[in-house]
Amino acid sequence: MSFDSLGLSAELLRAVGEQGYREPTPIQRKAIPAILEGKDVMAGAQTGTGKTAGFTLPLLQRLNTNAAKKGRRPIRALVLTPTRELAAQVGESVEIYGRHLPLRSAVIFGGVKINPQIEKLRRGVDILVATPGRLLDHAGQKTVDLSQIEILVLDEADRMLDMGFIHDIRKVLALLPDNGARQNLLFSATFSDEIKQLAGRLLNSPELIEVARRNATADRIEQVVHPVDKNRKRELLSHMIGSLDWRQVLVFSRTKHGANRLAQQLEKDGLSAAAIHGNKSQGARTRALAGFKRGDVRVLVATDIAARGLDIDQLPHVVNYELPNVPEDYVHRIGRTGRAGNEGAAVSLVCVDEHKLLRDIERLLKREIPKVVLEGYEPDPAIRAEPIRNGRNGSGRAQPRKQAEGHSRSRSPSANRSADARRQPGSGRPAQKPSASGFARGQVRR
Ligand code: AMP
Repeated sequence: MSFDSLGLSAELLRAVGEQGYREPTPIQRKAIPAILEGKDVMAGAQTGTGKTAGFTLPLLQRLNTNAAKKGRRPIRALVLTPTRELAAQVGESVEIYGRHLPLRSAVIFGGVKINPQIEKLRRGVDILVATPGRLLDHAGQKTVDLSQIEILVLDEADRMLDMGFIHDIRKVLALLPDNGARQNLLFSATFSDEIKQLAGRLLNSPELIEVARRNATADRIEQVVHPVDKNRKRELLSHMIGSLDWRQVLVFSRTKHGANRLAQQLEKDGLSAAAIHGNKSQGARTRALAGFKRGDVRVLVATDIAARGLDIDQLPHVVNYELPNVPEDYVHRIGRTGRAGNEGAAVSLVCVDEHKLLRDIERLLKREIPKVVLEGYEPDPAIRAEPIRNGRNGSGRAQPRKQAEGHSRSRSPSANRSADARRQPGSGRPAQKPSASGFARGQVRR
């Protein structure tokens, strides 16, 4: 099936052709015609499935077909995203796919100066891509008018709720025209009861689109667990990267502090590494990501929230240095690899403390992930599991994620830092250079 049969205009087909896309992905095949018809849509699609083009292309076409009223350009489409990185990426997609159309777009998110955003909004935009917090700042200053929105997109809605944005979303919805008077599109990788409730309030007789099994991981991703002691994880990671000659690796750490420390240790091991998390300035995050995409930075260590929305084409390796507390995050994390039809590999380094987290993940996936003990890194059976301390009260999900990532407006960075410092016990071993004679796949014991 080609893009031509979806009902898209010549300008959009040209832009799609320039991107080198030969045929629509399954989500695009289903979502594009439904959105073009003006239907509300609730789509279960993981990141990496091509969902951004799935909503952006028909959105652009609808705005272009129903030309804006004369006079001052009102904002006619709003895309809400959970993170700055995702907002930037969706904004980039809107620019790319809309390059042959006379529509204007803007991206607004926190962590950068507000004045250039105000100036851009003042000049008039048709499509606004925003994170909820900064959008509400603009609404408070009356520098944005959302009363003419015709199309609303909630992208990665599950993540927005996980990050504690439900109140912000409600406030934004109150600034929009009646939901009967606009088209509503909700995209989510997972469907909790909370998401269903939100969808119930927001969507009118939606078309339900699901392209991957609910909560399932993309089939093209090869997954493996390497059981290893906590204090040998870094050594094993360096060893794998060096000996298997991985050139571009995204590594997930549970905490900001842990991400920083791991990046520093990997640098000492001779691997170029950078950390990206919620306490880093937007500039530092953008620089780290650009370096990683260019290939200057070989290992990018990220926390879950910072990694959300990263779109790195053909990322071959994702490593869970620590398993996430929330099983759904595992699906999101490994969705960074195997994107848009490419093969990928997701490796998890799992210590005895994390066995319960692993069981929760496998329960969600409804399958076991193969376990491979690596020679020389066998876990010490004498080591007993210790509770994983991940928040002020030590329980996995007790505090809203926004706070855990340092996005909270009420909690100071130093409070975050000290909480992080309490979370992560040190890794004991001295740094070791990865040896070129490291293990080969044949040395792996199954
Ligand atoms: P997304 O799931 O929207 O984050 O998209 C994942 C990646 O797939 C992005 O790098 C897109 O550029 C790419 N992509 C989107 N649609 C297609 C398509 N039809 N064919 C090939 N690649 C695509």
